[in-house]
Amino acid sequence: MKLRKSAAAAAVVLALAASATACGKSGSPDDKDGAKASDGSSAPALPTYKVNTSADVKDSPVFEKIKGKEITIGTKADQPFLGFENPSTKKRTGFDIEIAKMIAADLGFDEDHIKFKTVPSEARETKIASGDVDLYVGTYTINDERKKQVGFAGPYYVAGQALLVKKDSSIKGPDDLKGKKVCSATGSTPLKRIKEARYGVAEAKAQQGYQLCVQDLVNGQTDAVTTDDAILKGYAAENKGALKVVGKFSTEPYGVGLKKEDAALREAVNKAIEAHEKNGDWKKAYDATLGLSGAVAEMPPAIERY
Ligand code: GLU
Repeated sequence: MKLRKSAAAAAVVLALAASATACGKSGSPDDKDGAKASDGSSAPALPTYKVNTSADVKDSPVFEKIKGKEITIGTKADQPFLGFENPSTKKRTGFDIEIAKMIAADLGFDEDHIKFKTVPSEARETKIASGDVDLYVGTYTINDERKKQVGFAGPYYVAGQALLVKKDSSIKGPDDLKGKKVCSATGSTPLKRIKEARYGVAEAKAQQGYQLCVQDLVNGQTDAVTTDDAILKGYAAENKGALKVVGKFSTEPYGVGLKKEDAALREAVNKAIEAHEKNGDWKKAYDATLGLSGAVAEMPPAIERY
């Protein structure tokens, strides 16, 4: 039994490693040139974004600081199809990366003037408030508690909390978690929710990122991984045949995090998101990244101005 478990673990870890280096679908971790899907068919091309060379954001302290220089954008690096960094090429791919690029272009920054920084869920508020990142684009749920510390533009996508389990698991949704071990990321909304007494989990393990939870699942150290369906679908796609996504029990609107006080930048980012939804870039980017994981493209949600 022990042997079988570790063999399965090795297989999935290998699959993840291989997908990080092999050529394949655009927007996925295995992206090299974005030209072909792994089945050989043509994957949709990523959009290119026109840089606004005369961009200005009046009354934005953050824009004033970065204008004509570079923009630092925080994101995730271990979330296939959303925010993923290829460990060997260091190339970043995914829907969040595309959202970051389209906003940056409207603010006057081409790709060479974007500095991506990997920031895990638990460090987001601190890194935004300290100015370590100018924007944060990484499956970041807008909620009132976080709004006390940071500002949010968007939403640009709406996900929902779900569960990732082994293919043969009897867990079908949150009601089947009583007495089970569940893994999620420190500082995330899914971790907080799954700790609620009504779910009756035996253990809610907190990891630095979801990739580590997936390894725990494969190793048999946890019964389920919980976070947004959009994230979990990426891991399921990367581990085809071994893992599946079940249940959906929350609404997670993804926003772009920025300094709480910078209302001018918040509005500039809102306008950028709206413009790229309108001109078709949003859909194109979605189809070439997150859409490849099997996630269904909802209509872009209405911007929440507050
Ligand atoms: N969207 C959730 C959150 O913001 C979970 C995903 C994440 O940790 O980034 O907490």
